[in-house]
Amino acid sequence: MFGLIGHSTSFKDARLKAMELGYDHIAEGDLDVWCSAPPQLVEHVKVVSPSGNTIEGAYIDSCFVPEMLGRFKAARRKVLNAMELAQKKGINITALGGFTSIIFENFNLLQHKNIRNTTLEWERFTTGNTHTAWVICRQLEINAPSIGIDLKKSRVAVVGATGDIGSAICRWLSRRTGVAELILVARQEKPLLELQNELGGGRILGLKDALPEADVVVWVASMPRTLEIDSSKLRNPCLMIDGGYPKNLDGKVSGEGVHVLKGGIVEFFNDIGWNMMALAEMEKPQRQMFACFAEAMLLEFENCHTNFSWGRNNITLEKMDFIGEASVRNGFKTLNLNNPYQAAAA
Ligand code: NDP
Repeated sequence: MFGLIGHSTSFKDARLKAMELGYDHIAEGDLDVWCSAPPQLVEHVKVVSPSGNTIEGAYIDSCFVPEMLGRFKAARRKVLNAMELAQKKGINITALGGFTSIIFENFNLLQHKNIRNTTLEWERFTTGNTHTAWVICRQLEINAPSIGIDLKKSRVAVVGATGDIGSAICRWLSRRTGVAELILVARQEKPLLELQNELGGGRILGLKDALPEADVVVWVASMPRTLEIDSSKLRNPCLMIDGGYPKNLDGKVSGEGVHVLKGGIVEFFNDIGWNMMALAEMEKPQRQMFACFAEAMLLEFENCHTNFSWGRNNITLEKMDFIGEASVRNGFKTLNLNNPYQAAAA
């Protein structure tokens, strides 16, 4: 059985969803009430692969909302309680979706193995970042040429280059895709220099200087809501892959030749018959999902019950190959610009 741990995109959405599911007492509560609300297993689902392989899964809402990010103890409790529930339900492999994997890493939850009388077994969990990184690389390779960008002659900026997903993307782009120049963007200098050294190349630039130079910009950082981008300085054509969370780039950039693609999203070959992705505002919620969620499904399909993506900057090209092949074999394809709602220039 696979599991997905997720959360609503805002406190307002979470309250609406709770009302819809009949949890009125929680829905009406303020943020303090929500901080102490337990996780809920809200949905069971069966998924059948193109070859007829059937797996079962469950969606757990952690009852975390992004408004809790500043409340360290509440955020930590939400993630650990949801993981405990997944384990108690006997789920073999559970993906940490949305902000939950970032909270796990950034708040160093590895040291909190014991929750009440449960000892968390890390091998039952995955961040899903390997599949996310592979999907974003494929989205870049498929969609850049479709809008006239020749990757061999192009500059690609990775914003969040030193992160878990960003560093994997940089490795793939420099060793597999082969782009003319890789531009590395993040705030801290030391990890940037270490990455540059590991890659044996890549130019380090600040965000403002990188944007006007890049034919493709891959966003794999959670950017502040206040971030403003001067669209008139972007190249034409320019492909922007919005791989961060929340996905809010389409509201920040516009202009001729600027194409925004939601990054790290896959589409299953068939309708799944679940409700959970309506929460995440997918265009086709019966088929589309975050690649990190799909990773748990893939590991279940492949009978690979292990914490496949775990820790920071451990994603190898071999692991990306493995999960990428499993993705294609089990009926997933990447979200591309030729979907009608994505095709229009932003
Ligand atoms: P990490 O925390 O490992 O990395 C974040 C990276 O972003 C670091 O390089 C960090 O470097 C950089 N960064 C953060 N803030 C800024 C800023 N203001 N300007 C420039 N760089 C910045 O995160 P992950 O790699 O695990 O995840 C990256 C993003 O992908 C997250 O937003 C996450 O929510 C999202 N994600 C999306 C998925 C999907 O859509 N399917 C699945 C999983 C994750 P520094 O601190 O030095 O600036």
